Amino acid sequence: MKFSDIRDAFPILKLQENGQPLVYLDSGATSQKPLKVIEAIDHYYRAENANVHRGVYGLSERATESYEGAREKVRHFLNASSTKEIVFVRGTTEAINLVAQTWGRENLTAGDEVLITEMEHHSNIVPWQLLRDQLGIKLVVVPINDQGEISLSDYESLLSEKTKLVSVVHMSNALGSINPVKEMTTLAHKVGAKVLLDGAQAVPHMAVDVQSLDCDFYAFSAHKMYGPTGIGVLYGKEALLEAMPPYQGGGDMIYSVTFDKTEYNELPYKFEAGTPHIAGGIGLGAAIDFMLDIGLENIAQYENQLLTEATEKLQQIEGLKIIGQAANKGGVISFVIEGVHPHDMATLMDQDGIAVRASHHCAMPVMQRFNVPATIRASLGVYNNSEDIDRLIASIKEAIDMLV
Ligand code: PMP
Repeated sequence: MKFSDIRDAFPILKLQENGQPLVYLDSGATSQKPLKVIEAIDHYYRAENANVHRGVYGLSERATESYEGAREKVRHFLNASSTKEIVFVRGTTEAINLVAQTWGRENLTAGDEVLITEMEHHSNIVPWQLLRDQLGIKLVVVPINDQGEISLSDYESLLSEKTKLVSVVHMSNALGSINPVKEMTTLAHKVGAKVLLDGAQAVPHMAVDVQSLDCDFYAFSAHKMYGPTGIGVLYGKEALLEAMPPYQGGGDMIYSVTFDKTEYNELPYKFEAGTPHIAGGIGLGAAIDFMLDIGLENIAQYENQLLTEATEKLQQIEGLKIIGQAANKGGVISFVIEGVHPHDMATLMDQDGIAVRASHHCAMPVMQRFNVPATIRASLGVYNNSEDIDRLIASIKEAIDMLV
């Protein structure tokens, strides 16, 4: 598939916003969905809808096959060694909370340290604060430099035998920085700590190989990688998942139940209580097919070119400052403009059909670090092109003329 043809796969991009063709630059919040994904969900409800893992009739068997087929696609996508390591959850947020409340409660005690960074999304801060208040653990924060990067030596100096878990974002949603997670994992393992990677922003933009990274847990959401909302994945090494207690209790996660005792189901079902988001899983499988058809390397290369082009053009605008200039960066550009509130700017840009986000991006500590209340964020997807960048630039210039 050529990148010039990819837009045709997204029905929403044919619509107009405020009388203008839509320029969607908010894929960091959620991506648009290609026909392949929409049709897979539609097909499931039209032709395969039944509950999974239970029915002995053909329809239920077909629903189970499609849903479990999607799990195998996720396994392949992450290069995990077994589908036992692929737990379906609601999204990244639930995946991190699951680890905190199962692995965390089982393995951490007062005084133990969980290392996070200054660039974490709230979903990788608050679950650890909840656990801190429950168990008396300590949260240690790795600082970021003016470019929005983590220095490996700063990181290493904060690791000790007290560190039991490093929980770090693979690619920052607020800055675009891609962290050296493989090196960070190796260093964490040297002190005996486990590693959880928040891959919410990474999976849409690059190939992820959990065996090569050697991380213990990897979390992501389908909706940022062209799949539906309400479904995501927690990858965990089999031995760790095996030793962890269940997260929620209910149907599907059990093998047998009496009033005295419950035996839990095998992996990954032990962590999947209740009727799952079947259509969501199938939609995620279709999103993986969509990305693999384009090629993960091709996506990374194309988006990097577009990122460079957008960065160069934005830098030429007087008074505009890019927040986060990491040497290793994905398709997210956060910026502020002197004398203009980000919300006013984004509201005016909406009139031009340009969808960007103006907020703290659920990463308030990043805003505090750079001393800004919010930023405007343009985040890229496979459907963006040079024309989108040119319309973004023109709209910013027009808005500056009006506001400054
Ligand atoms: N981590 C990062 C880096 C994110 O960008 C997001 C979503 N903005 C999340 C976690 C949370 O993802 P979700 O809301 O899909 O659970």
